[in-house]
Amino acid sequence: MSVPTQGTKWNPMGVPSPSQHQTAERLHAAVAAKPQGVAAEAASGARSGPPWEKTNKITPSLSRTDLRRLAYGRRAESRKILVRHAGGETLGFEPIKLPRCARCGQPVDTGVGVMTNGEKARFTGTMLCGSIWACPTCSAIIRHERAHEVALAIGNHAEKLRKAAADQWQAEHEGQRLPPELMVSDSFGNYIFGTLTLRHDRTMPLAMTLDAILKGWTKMINGSPWQRASERWKIRGFVRAIEITYGVNGWHPHIHFVMFLDGDLDDGQREAMQQWLLDRWKTMVKRVAKAYKKKDGNPYNVAPNDEHGIDLQFKSGKDAGTAAAEYITKIQGDKGGVTLAQEIARGDIKDGRMGSVNPFQLLDSGCLGLSDFQREDLWLEYWQATLRRRCITWSRGLKEDMEVEELEDEELAEKADELPGLVGYVVPNRVYKDIRKSAPETLADALDAAEREDWQEVARLLPGGVILTDEQQDAIADGEAKPGDYLPTMSVMV
Ligand SMILES: [Zn+2]
Repeated sequence: MSVPTQGTKWNPMGVPSPSQHQTAERLHAAVAAKPQGVAAEAASGARSGPPWEKTNKITPSLSRTDLRRLAYGRRAESRKILVRHAGGETLGFEPIKLPRCARCGQPVDTGVGVMTNGEKARFTGTMLCGSIWACPTCSAIIRHERAHEVALAIGNHAEKLRKAAADQWQAEHEGQRLPPELMVSDSFGNYIFGTLTLRHDRTMPLAMTLDAILKGWTKMINGSPWQRASERWKIRGFVRAIEITYGVNGWHPHIHFVMFLDGDLDDGQREAMQQWLLDRWKTMVKRVAKAYKKKDGNPYNVAPNDEHGIDLQFKSGKDAGTAAAEYITKIQGDKGGVTLAQEIARGDIKDGRMGSVNPFQLLDSGCLGLSDFQREDLWLEYWQATLRRRCITWSRGLKEDMEVEELEDEELAEKADELPGLVGYVVPNRVYKDIRKSAPETLADALDAAEREDWQEVARLLPGGVILTDEQQDAIADGEAKPGDYLPTMSVMV
C-alpha cells in the first residue's frame, strides 16, 4: 500500500542530498502556498527551535547523536527502575499508573511517526513527560529553554536601563546628540551570580537536605529584613535554580541564583551583602533542618561554615546574559564551568575520582563504582525527593518586568519539541514500544537517519512500518490523515 521513496545515503561532506533539497523545497512551497498551521509557523520563525540548535556553546564536547543516544538509554534505564519499583511488568501491570516520567516517549496515537524538516527530526504521536528533574530527555530540553529565558531577561534588563539613562540624558541636554555609549545597551546591567550550599554528609537523606535548601531559600527571601536588604543593595529580582549532585559525601543539593541589580555596588556594599546573606542563609537552613532528627535524636548539622556556605560573583554588562544562562541551567558541574556534556564525556567521572556525579549519571551502569542495587536505590530516592518540587523559579514580577513569557515545564517541553516538518515514516506502536524499552539508543539512530532522509535506514532500524509517499506526507501535514492511517490494519490492532 505504500510506494517507498528513494532512499539516499548520508553525505559526509555536508552537501545536501537531493532529497534534503526536496524536503526543503517542498516545505518552502507549502509555506508560500498556505500561510496557516504548520507552514505559517515555519514561515513566521516564531517557534523556538530544537534545544540543540542553541546549545552548541553549552555542550561542545559531545555530538548531538551521542547526547541523544545517552538520553534515550538513560530514560529507558529510569523507566526500568520505576517499573520494578511499581511491582514489575507482571500480570495486572498498568502502565497508566506508572509515574509520568516513566511514561515519557510512550505512543499516544495509532502509530508513531518519524518527522523531519531535512535538518532536525523527532517522533510524533508520542508523549513527553516534561520532568525537569527525572527525565533525561525532557530535562535537557527544558533547561535549555529556561537558559534562553534568563538570557532574554538580561538583554531586556540592559535595554531598559539604557533607555532610562538615555531619556534622562536627553532631558538634561535638550537638542544635543545622544553620546554613543547611551545608544547601545551592552554595558548596562549589574548582576550577582551566587551559590548557597549546606554542610552535608552520607547520613543525610536527600529529602531533608533538599527541603532545607528550598524552605531555607523561601524564608530567606521573604519578610521585612529581605525587603530592606533588597532596597539597600538595589535587588530588582532573581532567578534561582537547584542543582543536585551525588558523591563521596552523599547528596549535595545546592542553590544557584542570578540577582538582577538596579545599579552597581562598591566593595564595602559587596562585603556587607555577602555576610548578611550568609548569616541569614545559615539561620534559615538550621531552622528548617530542626524538624528532622537523626537516629540518636539529635538534629542534623546542616549550617555551612563561612568558607563554603556562599559564593558571590559580581558581573555587569550584556555579556552576563550568556554566562548567567549557563550558570543557572548548565547545572551538574560541581566545579563551576564544567558542563553536563563534558562531565559525561570524561571517563574519570565514572570511576569516582572526580568525587561527584549528576543524578542522571546514576543511570549509567558502573557509575562511581556503585552496584546496580545501590544505583537504583539512589535513583529512586532522588526521584521521590524531587517529585513536585520546583527546580527553577523567578522572584515575583521579574518575568513580567523583563518581558519573559510564563510557561510551565510541560508546556515548554512540548513547545520546544514542535518542529515544522514532514512525517516520512510510520512505525507500529508495538515495534516502537519494544525498541524504546530494549534498545533505546536505536531511537536516536533512527532520528539521525531521518535527518539524512535515509528512510530505508529508518525502516531497517524500526522495522514493520511504512515509508510514506509525498502525497501521504502532505495529507498528514494538512491534518487530513494521521501517520497510523497508513499502517496495515493488522499492525495497528496489536
Ligand atoms: Zn520526558
